[in-house]
Amino acid sequence: MTNTWYMGDLSKLIAKNKIWAKQKKAIDPDFFVELAKGQSPQYLWIGCSDSRVAPATLSGLDQGDIFVTRNISNLMIHTDLNSLSVLQYAIEVLKVSDIIVCGHYGCGGINAAMGVTPFGLTDNWLRNIKDVFLQHKAELYEIQDPIERANRLVELNVYKQVYNTCYTNTVQAAWVNKKNLTVHGCVFELSTGLLKKLDCSVSSIEQIDSIYKIDI
Ligand SMILES: [Zn+2]
Repeated sequence: MTNTWYMGDLSKLIAKNKIWAKQKKAIDPDFFVELAKGQSPQYLWIGCSDSRVAPATLSGLDQGDIFVTRNISNLMIHTDLNSLSVLQYAIEVLKVSDIIVCGHYGCGGINAAMGVTPFGLTDNWLRNIKDVFLQHKAELYEIQDPIERANRLVELNVYKQVYNTCYTNTVQAAWVNKKNLTVHGCVFELSTGLLKKLDCSVSSIEQIDSIYKIDI
């Protein structure tokens, strides 16, 4: 009997993986031996799920260099156990020293949050971005060009998520315990391939508003 179910086709992906592994080994015969021993990344990347914004690829870094969590529009939400667990593990176990919240221009989540089209369950996630819009609506409505307005919201959302990351008890505990930890904000520009660092790095508890401080 012929199986009529479509089983998917990963042949291209598996073939490309074989080529990649072979090339890596040709450059460094011990690459995978070392990789299998463990990880000690310097960075935690909080990025967008967008397939065009792959952290290791765009940063030119390698396997083992970046610990990653990604979701729609690079949010750090205080009720999201996934992101919070990644954050805690990255800081307390892997001992990363730099956290990068990275947005990108042309973000589908940002565009969706600025519109009224329903996306089902995702609408609940996008609500967080609408809240950022509302917080800055005077500035955003001043911008006439819809693409420029969306680009500005991308940046404002990065600022918001940088601070959301800093407000967590995990990050505050790291600072109280004198750990060297900085939270950065960046935006990736798809049309140039360049990463822009925003002026919003936070590296001490003194930089956050007192209402969010926890007496650890
Ligand atoms: Zn995006």
